[in-house]
Amino acid sequence: VGGHHTPQTGPMKPAGVKRIIAVASGKGGVGKSTVSSNLAVALSRAGKKVGLLDADIYGPSQPRMMGAKGRPASPDGKTIEPLHAHGVTLMSIGFMVEEDKAVVWRGPMLMGALQQMLGQVNWGELDVLIVDLPPGTGDVQLTLCQRSELSGALVVSTPQDVALIDARKAIDMFGTLKTPVLGLIENMSTFTCPNCGHESHIFGHGGVVDEAQKMGVPLLGQLPIDLDTRLAGDAGTPIAAGEGPMAQAYAQLAQGLIR
Ligand code: ADP
Repeated sequence: VGGHHTPQTGPMKPAGVKRIIAVASGKGGVGKSTVSSNLAVALSRAGKKVGLLDADIYGPSQPRMMGAKGRPASPDGKTIEPLHAHGVTLMSIGFMVEEDKAVVWRGPMLMGALQQMLGQVNWGELDVLIVDLPPGTGDVQLTLCQRSELSGALVVSTPQDVALIDARKAIDMFGTLKTPVLGLIENMSTFTCPNCGHESHIFGHGGVVDEAQKMGVPLLGQLPIDLDTRLAGDAGTPIAAGEGPMAQAYAQLAQGLIR
């Protein structure tokens, strides 16, 4: 992946893939990768054939969050075999570079890597391919929207103003690129004290609800700050793979997408 690959023109949606859904955010650290992995697992548990493409080239989180390690094989030197974890077909730039090594690439190399991960990976038959985008509104988003026939994008934000301002920009970008925004997902919306049960709004309250209304975009879900979600992600078994309220919340989110 990467190398001196010159991006070609033309669409690059893999033949067996029915829908590509991108998960975006304006800012980093709002939980975009956490939502991507959990949504992928929840969709798989709902009986869908699901792929997850970690396109967060500068900070690939999915190898860790999905608990998948190893170098994808390429028996014929052309196609790349994806990995599999928790019922999800998985590809990440992180499989190609060491965890503590930085990816220092210019735009054209990025595009080459993205193109390879879409076009040369043996995705097989998929109902949905979830793409975990890098944060912001850069080259990867542009290329993906213009070239891969995205079915739509989900935008993840916390209720905090600084996150919302950037989420608005992401929504605006998808509008410009004519990619439908399927909805907003509010992450880290509330925190319930494990000792006294008091609910606090650490990152603010109501901002995402208002924003969704203002922009005419559906609010698909509100996910609390949850210690087990963080622990599960770090341990490589997304919370959606288990039982309990968070797994149910992700199952519901998945249902909303396949309705
Ligand atoms: P992004 O992809 O937007 O950069 P991540 O998914 O990597 O964000 O999340 C950033 C950090 O916050 C990670 O350590 C993750 O485990 C944690 N995190 C994400 N969502 C939640 C949540 N709802 N509750 C608790 N921790 C969360």
